[in-house]
Amino acid sequence: MSNEKFIPLSVPNIAGNEWKYVKECLDTGWISSVGTYVTRFEEMVASFVGARYGIAAVNGTAALHIALLLSGVKQNDYVILSNLTFVASANSIKYLGAEPLLIDADPDLWQMDLDLLEEFLENETDERNGSLIYIKDGRRIGAIMPVHILGNMFDMDRFLSIVKKYPLPVVEDSTEALGTTYKGKSAGTFSPLACFSFNGNKIISTGGGGVIVTDDEALAKHAKHLTTTAKASPDEYYHDEIGYNYRLVNVLAAIGVGQMELLPSFIKRKKECVSFYKNELKGVADIRFQQELKEVDTNGWLFTIQTDKQHQLLAHLNVNKILSRRFWMPMNKLPMYKDCLYVQQRNNADYIYNTCLSIPSSTSITDEELGIVVNEIKAAIG
Ligand SMILES: *Cc1c(COP(=O)(O)O)cnc(C)c1O
Repeated sequence: MSNEKFIPLSVPNIAGNEWKYVKECLDTGWISSVGTYVTRFEEMVASFVGARYGIAAVNGTAALHIALLLSGVKQNDYVILSNLTFVASANSIKYLGAEPLLIDADPDLWQMDLDLLEEFLENETDERNGSLIYIKDGRRIGAIMPVHILGNMFDMDRFLSIVKKYPLPVVEDSTEALGTTYKGKSAGTFSPLACFSFNGNKIISTGGGGVIVTDDEALAKHAKHLTTTAKASPDEYYHDEIGYNYRLVNVLAAIGVGQMELLPSFIKRKKECVSFYKNELKGVADIRFQQELKEVDTNGWLFTIQTDKQHQLLAHLNVNKILSRRFWMPMNKLPMYKDCLYVQQRNNADYIYNTCLSIPSSTSITDEELGIVVNEIKAAIG
């Protein structure tokens, strides 16, 4: 079976009412920052995850920026973050003049290592005037951002029991985890503010977009205010603080409403792909999978395998028109973050980066294409 067509990694799947809803925006002229689809999309995302309010944003990075700002992160603060994440998490911290404080990844879950976190908080921090301080330099630690890497989650009960001993606000970067649950509770509902992304490679897409979710009415109102230029008067250009033009436009929200209608079927398809890959690739060469806790039901966003033959496999797949990607380069290897504090013992993030490979996981992938991917992996390293 030769592969004629390029198999992408994770691409949008426009398969429902998106066209109809967008056409309605174009026909009525409601294409910009006001319109009914924005509100509908916000409500659909919030109600899907079980949060009371949703606030749309232009992308996930902007959503994280506002969530951190509203959590009280200030200039020169540290924000604790996994060294292994997509760069947007770290950038959103920098936008506030704060600095990521990096923690290594757990070798099995590929999420922030909770042992390292617990030890760090216990031994290297102190509480002063209601703030958490990094003892060595006296700087404040303003927040912690757990990232649900690849749509998976770590032990949330343990995480929350660790952080609740400290004055340390949590902001979940749930951008990859729409549809993932821990003990039946959705990712994005474990912190006062959490963010989702609807970039082209995510489980649903608006082209580009994001949503902040919260149960707190005051935070929801403030988030809406800040993302919409902080205009404080309905009929005058009176703005009462420095706002942002982070609005998601109605046309894109219309795509989002169509995509939300499809989300349950997308999650189902992602899970089918995950179980197919796991069955077929178990025991092939030295392939390992990201581990999942029994409390976690993941959305299977982007299937990723681990093998010491990463380079050989990557080259073979790409020659055979099967798009695969290495993991994100750890933050401490990027020029802007190379001098950040990095709490680690074995630098697992580097090992994961050097051994992991994401393979095609679009919801539109066919069974035949899944078969081709598996056969080529076996041909390369099996
Ligand atoms: C996608 C993503 C973001 C940000 O999303 P954008 O919508 O592309 O700005 C942030 N963090 C992580 C971990 C992501 O995967």
